[in-house]
Amino acid sequence: MNSADHPIPPIVPDIEELRRRVDDDFPAVLADLNRLIAIPSLSAPTADHTPLERSAELVATMAKSVGVQDVEIVRARTEAGVWGGPGVLGRIPGPPGAPTVLLYAHHDVQPVTDDWDTDPFVPTQVGDRLFGRGAADDGAGVVVHLGALRALGSDLGVGIAVFIEGEEEVGSPTFAHLLREHADRLAADVVVVADSDNWEIGTPALTVSLRGVAELTVTLRVSQHAVHSGMFGGPLLDAPLLLARLLATLHDSDGAVAVAGLGPTGHSELAYPEDRLRADAAILPGVRLAGHGPIADRLWWSPSIDLIGFDATRVDDASGTIAPQARARVSLRVPPGMDAVAAQEAVHRHVVDHAPFGAEVSVDDGVPGEPFTLPTDSPAMEAATWALTTAWGREPVLQGQGGSIPLTHDLARTFPGIDVLLTGVEDPDSRAHSGNESVHLGELRRAVLAEALLLARLAVPVS
Ligand SMILES: [Zn+2]
Repeated sequence: MNSADHPIPPIVPDIEELRRRVDDDFPAVLADLNRLIAIPSLSAPTADHTPLERSAELVATMAKSVGVQDVEIVRARTEAGVWGGPGVLGRIPGPPGAPTVLLYAHHDVQPVTDDWDTDPFVPTQVGDRLFGRGAADDGAGVVVHLGALRALGSDLGVGIAVFIEGEEEVGSPTFAHLLREHADRLAADVVVVADSDNWEIGTPALTVSLRGVAELTVTLRVSQHAVHSGMFGGPLLDAPLLLARLLATLHDSDGAVAVAGLGPTGHSELAYPEDRLRADAAILPGVRLAGHGPIADRLWWSPSIDLIGFDATRVDDASGTIAPQARARVSLRVPPGMDAVAAQEAVHRHVVDHAPFGAEVSVDDGVPGEPFTLPTDSPAMEAATWALTTAWGREPVLQGQGGSIPLTHDLARTFPGIDVLLTGVEDPDSRAHSGNESVHLGELRRAVLAEALLLARLAVPVS
């Protein structure tokens, strides 16, 4: 919308005052982030969850310190006894008639691999970047929310609900339960999901589409027990080899997904240049890209299938035996407009139908998360566009996201009419989920300012 046609009413406090407060508070924001990074808050099923409990307590303490009330650490009670990570809930009542804004982020982190140059749980600043697991995903989201509340202080003109999840990195297994149990405390007019990324350093973004996600665990067996590879090799192929052949059928010779019923569902207006993708993903020079069509469409509007885990004999334990069993975890990304359950079923069927050499194949389906698209013309979107433009001095890019935030779908279904905003602090070099994860401190500061501006703007009634 053109601001000349619709002059924006002044916000309280004004832009320069908010900018001053964010600058003054920034050391405190950074101190919060450092404390979060120092806790290895892994939610992975095999991890020790004691630190995750500690990080929930820390988030609760930090939330109280910026004025959040009725702060409580919550877990879902599920019938099936499904494990649920500790989430932090709280509210700040708004003036009568003011909208309520739900601030979402997560405090759990991904496990670490061994490709770190620094200790992942010792926050380490190098130049403009702060390194550590969770520095970007999603400790940055947590401190942006709290930093915006700190900057606004008693000038806050909207109601606030805070939800900092403790199980996002394992697919939010109990989010739907939590939503049901605490619907009254999570209810809001607008939700700000601070768990996405920006276009590049200096250019903010609003994410307008997300792929869904579904995982499947495939087990393949060929014999009752291991046998001698010299005595039986030849007529009997081993399980890891056959599983590799089976998995190879999931893509065509160009590397596009070759599962019946799965294909592209849309087109992106925004271009994602190939050289940028190559730099962002650190792709080796000789490696060809897979699939067909514009890269943005392949990333945001097409399915993808990856092998994210494989159980076979370790090379160091290799012996002359034919392995009887192998196991793989397959991850499917589901493009917007496609039903995640149906997409998962399509892969399930494909794997069973393509069992090579009559091998016994069984498939365990994970809980799928649905894809999501956002309207680009909502009042909240307009307010966010203004806030980001003001904070960065540059208009945000409307981008897709290949990643998944399944709870967006659950929120939209539970609170019809809720305006979802997907923001974030990550830039293309943040390396979420990888070694050397980091956040750019200039971007972090702008993100805090943008969210403070957004909350101030949402407090101004639309005339
Ligand atoms: Zn995240």
